[in-house]
Amino acid sequence: MSLPCGATIGILGDGQLGRMLASAAARLGFRTVSFGPGGEHSPAAQVTGRHFAAGYEDVAALKAFAETCDTVTVEFENVPVSAAEAVIAAGTPFHPGPNALSVAQDRAMEKRFLEEAGILCAPWRLVDSLADLEAAHAALGPDAILKTRREGYDGKGQVRLSAGSDLAAAWREIGERACVLEGFVDFALETSAIVARGTDGGVAVYPPSQNLHEGGILRRSMVPAPISVETEQRAQALAVRLAEQLDYIGVLALEFFVMQDGRLLANEFAPRVHNSGHWTPEACATGQFENHIRAVAGWPLGETALLYNAEMENLIGEAAGAPVADLLSRGSLTLYGKREIRPGRKMGHLVRIRPL
Ligand code: AMP
Repeated sequence: MSLPCGATIGILGDGQLGRMLASAAARLGFRTVSFGPGGEHSPAAQVTGRHFAAGYEDVAALKAFAETCDTVTVEFENVPVSAAEAVIAAGTPFHPGPNALSVAQDRAMEKRFLEEAGILCAPWRLVDSLADLEAAHAALGPDAILKTRREGYDGKGQVRLSAGSDLAAAWREIGERACVLEGFVDFALETSAIVARGTDGGVAVYPPSQNLHEGGILRRSMVPAPISVETEQRAQALAVRLAEQLDYIGVLALEFFVMQDGRLLANEFAPRVHNSGHWTPEACATGQFENHIRAVAGWPLGETALLYNAEMENLIGEAAGAPVADLLSRGSLTLYGKREIRPGRKMGHLVRIRPL
């Protein structure tokens, strides 16, 4: 089904991704409504026509929200699956679908899904106890990362282990929660492939970027990535395969470690538009936000070929506190409308483009 111009798209989540999705939707003539606990000052609530300020467990509010929308999507992968189910129960289509959310919300399910799709991951083990951690560390260590299965993002919910690490202390630090232990991977660089898949199964895939993280948070993405065309095409093909296996509608991002020998190991995927694709509106004919909106609206997808070299720089914490004239002189500026600067908080980003 293809939505008519003027239809209403609901966004579960109220952060900056929702804000940028709503802006792209507005450009195509859609109305938008957001839902989330952040309140009227949240980044998305400031730009959507209506905002439902409620928790994701509030079934009555979810029903009222869904009834105002022609279709609903997400901007935040940790929206509980029950919230997606409440939207569907109200009779409103929901993309990308609860299955993609539930797989992405649990690192163990995610890795199993990826491996079953033939997408290699870094070596990993399930950890449900200190004894599991000791056995896993003996098998995969000494350099490894303990990650919570749920609710980790931007390097949160992770403890780095090395030779001589106190495993009992690490297990306490992580909160004695269901985890996975991952072998630490000595990658050459990190990349991500972002793909849009439409209701007709058609796909549009962006050129993979090189992603630089610091402290588990993305700092910069650059395109083209310094990888061979063959590696680039492999990353894109794996992202397409994942979208197909999930019967996905919308944009998803698959993050990889690129090994010295060119092997690609998947780190994780995000069932949503992604920070490593924030350069796409400036550097491609169709940005990731517009393609996500087109996909969930049942519209044809837009061109994703690279028109410029691009570099995206996140403005994190105090970096956004520079005089606005300085920020504007450094590239195309996007600010997320967050009132309070906090360490580690993504406040905005800059994109610089150069002719290819
Ligand atoms: P994550 O939250 O799992 O995406 O991890 C954030 C960042 O930490 C990644 O983008 C990598 O830079 C680093 N990292 C995570 N897992 C590993 C690993 N198994 N080996 C090496 N670096 C990792």
